[in-house]
Amino acid sequence: MTSRLILVGPPGAGKGTQAARLSEALGVPAISTGDIFRANVKEQTELGRRAQRYMDAGEYVPDEVTNEMVRARLAEDDAAGGFLLDGYPRTADQVAELDGMLADAGTSLDAVVELTADTDEVVARLLQRATEQGRADDTEVVIRRRLEVYAEQTAPLTDIYAQRGLLTQVDGMGSIESVTERLLSALGASS
Ligand code: AMP
Repeated sequence: MTSRLILVGPPGAGKGTQAARLSEALGVPAISTGDIFRANVKEQTELGRRAQRYMDAGEYVPDEVTNEMVRARLAEDDAAGGFLLDGYPRTADQVAELDGMLADAGTSLDAVVELTADTDEVVARLLQRATEQGRADDTEVVIRRRLEVYAEQTAPLTDIYAQRGLLTQVDGMGSIESVTERLLSALGASS
């Protein structure tokens, strides 16, 4: 059974929406580093204070901060039987750290799914979300920076997982329901 999963894809590809739906369908927790950071910023925790200025600029939070947070989250009971990581790993250092965390736990990844999306479409979606949710990092300048950072630092990571035979690409365009169906069938979990 496929239960230790990574969902990767550019900002605006629909990862958060799909992660929640897959989590439900597969019975594993969706762990979104962006959501955890945002909750910490809102609560003004120490972690939130360390992360905020990077998030507001569309830059990545430093690896040591992010890795420590994910290590703690994956050690929680609900992640013992599986998890769906949304938004992590995003750098080569994070890939190596995650490998170490899983090796320490005696487990390994089952699959990495890349949600692909057209750039103009993701910019349009993010601008739309900005008006609906008022996220601080959804202004046009920051959106463009987030897409650049993704292209430079995160898109190349899919090669690492492809070489390991773990990568599946799924088209993220279309209705929410049709994308979920594609994802489940790519994971061999469709009904
Ligand atoms: P997201 O909601 O996944 O788009 O993440 C929002 C912001 O949180 C990103 O633009 C980063 O500033 C920060 N963030 C989330 N996940 C990571 C990560 N794995 N590494 C570094 N920064 C992250």
